[in-house]
Amino acid sequence: MTSQLQTKKLALTSSNYHSKEANKEYMSVSQFKGFIECEAKEMAKLTGAYIEPQSNAMLVGSYLHAAFESDDVFRTFEEENNKAIYKSRGGKYSDFEMADSMIETLKSDPFAMFAIEGEKEQIYTADLFGATWKIKVDSIHHGRLSFSDLKTTQDLHKRYWSDKYIGWVSFIEAWDYVLQMAVYRRVLQENLGQTYTPYIVAVTKENPPNKAVVHFDESRFEFEYEYLDMKMERINEVKQGIKEPIRCEKCRYCRGSRKIIDTIEVGALIHE
Ligand SMILES: [Zn+2]
Repeated sequence: MTSQLQTKKLALTSSNYHSKEANKEYMSVSQFKGFIECEAKEMAKLTGAYIEPQSNAMLVGSYLHAAFESDDVFRTFEEENNKAIYKSRGGKYSDFEMADSMIETLKSDPFAMFAIEGEKEQIYTADLFGATWKIKVDSIHHGRLSFSDLKTTQDLHKRYWSDKYIGWVSFIEAWDYVLQMAVYRRVLQENLGQTYTPYIVAVTKENPPNKAVVHFDESRFEFEYEYLDMKMERINEVKQGIKEPIRCEKCRYCRGSRKIIDTIEVGALIHE
């Protein structure tokens, strides 16, 4: 029997992991979140019709990750992004100075460093919810059957309104990090035959930075698996070209490609 899932897939490496080819063949947590936000934008990214601009926040995030991967990786990253990190008159841009203070905060906390211990940036794939998923784990510790992911945030205790959870949530739920941990946990189960415990090591952009090691009540994962199950059927159909992608008419891609087709009443401006 041949199905799309059984055809030979592109072998993933750290250099092609984020490529368009890899994204076409594999589902990832960020791609899933992209489809939930706007199907049209996500499809345009896959065809290459739309390229999302890299934000400075993303670059700062990569800088932080590189610092905990290895000294070599960090040095190479600094060299490759020299112009974004260093001012022409010397010294680092404030975002990167803040990142240095975040790195220092974690490095001087033994508990945080314990949670970050393990093999870095490991790639795994597995067939789940009708697609082949790819994950890259920040840090995995086979001895302790645990893995961890490094996250930056404004404030550990800030509350966000969530339509998904229909309530006020922390940054962890607001950015779908519970879903991410749930997917990683399942992909690791498929690959390693054991249940690994996820942790998020969070550090804030405050001065001085705050930090926490976050664990998850097991009961949270079932909700995410049901949510994935519910959403993936349509996403698979859209990605395979069976269903037309829906435009959200709110994102950067939709703004750049929309035409006015009718007038809008004042009240609809804040309810659309
Ligand atoms: Zn959109």
